Amino acid sequence: MTVGIVGAGQLGRMLALAGYPLGLDFLFLDPAAAPPAAQLAPVLQNTFTDAAALATLASRCEVVTIDWENVSVADLRKLRQHTRVSPPPAAIATAQDRVSEKRLFEKLGIATTRWRAVGTRRQLDTAVREIGLPGVLKTRRMGYDGKGQAVLRTPADVERAWSQLGPVPLLYEELVPFDLEVSVIGVRSPRGESQVYPLNHNLHSAGILRLTRAPYGNVRLNRMARRHVLTVMEYLRYVGVLTIEFFVRAGRLIANEMAPRVHNSGHWTIEGAVTSQFENHLRAILGLPLGDARARGHSAMINLIGTMPRRTEILRHVGVHLHDYAKEARPGRKLGHVTVVEEDAARCERRARLLLAELAPGIHIP
Ligand code: AMP
Repeated sequence: MTVGIVGAGQLGRMLALAGYPLGLDFLFLDPAAAPPAAQLAPVLQNTFTDAAALATLASRCEVVTIDWENVSVADLRKLRQHTRVSPPPAAIATAQDRVSEKRLFEKLGIATTRWRAVGTRRQLDTAVREIGLPGVLKTRRMGYDGKGQAVLRTPADVERAWSQLGPVPLLYEELVPFDLEVSVIGVRSPRGESQVYPLNHNLHSAGILRLTRAPYGNVRLNRMARRHVLTVMEYLRYVGVLTIEFFVRAGRLIANEMAPRVHNSGHWTIEGAVTSQFENHLRAILGLPLGDARARGHSAMINLIGTMPRRTEILRHVGVHLHDYAKEARPGRKLGHVTVVEEDAARCERRARLLLAELAPGIHIP
């Protein structure tokens, strides 16, 4: 049984690693010459928009999924003539546009930031007047890892942000003075069976995730996040893994955005949960029974960004799991991650701090 994946990055690579024990085969589509998944499975080397390549992928696979959400939804819809596509293209379309995402959260009663859609310089002035400063101007589409964003603190920043990002469709929202950031990862099968992982506590720097600790938070916060992700999955008749990122302010969850795929903040689940997010995504899209999403202990995951430490430097630490995505080093690029799992929460926290100081100097846990 072959799973087709549009995009052969690290997420696709980790999906394949989770799928081999289940006896699955993989076929990828990616424009890069040697993407991370190429070490593991064949890759059709072509653009994500090449109709013939997409049709080949679909005709050779039981189901097609994505490792990158900015693929053309129209193209994904066409693939349904040949095979199943999961997550549903309509859900991917919603997640591709920050305005559709905000509208969905509001429709489903999930608190989100105050926002305005911005298409012109005049609309930006109006949005800044109505929402106030400080705020964040974001491109509606194609933003990730803090790209396509500008923080506005003074009236003088308005012109600078507009010339930096305009005149593409934008969204202006309040800058939330959050206490911390969390994400919740859910998975739903075609029969409507679902599992939700415990909350992830995420630390970003310059818009890029650096550290995730899980499980996080009290029962109340976990229950709220669980309810939100289940509501969204149900509404979208979702199939696969879905992630929602939240700001936490005064004990309240404020939805920031969602990702229709396995997520960086869920990498700890490979060693730290009974069933990883990657295996559960595959189980869901193949209509198999879902696996238990409970944590096995306390986990910390640290991203390796820009430069890759030497293997020996990491592996000399007892119980540290290294994931090297086999990528070429470049500033700001996610090259790998490490995970530690401990039975004891305080010990996990101590190890996370020590590892962070060693692997990401300059990044501090507040
Ligand atoms: P995003 O691409 O929307 O996930 O933004 C990346 C990161 O930038 C978030 O995880 C936050 O750390 C920060 N950020 C984005 N939007 C806001 C906001 N409205 N208020 C405060 N911080 C934000």
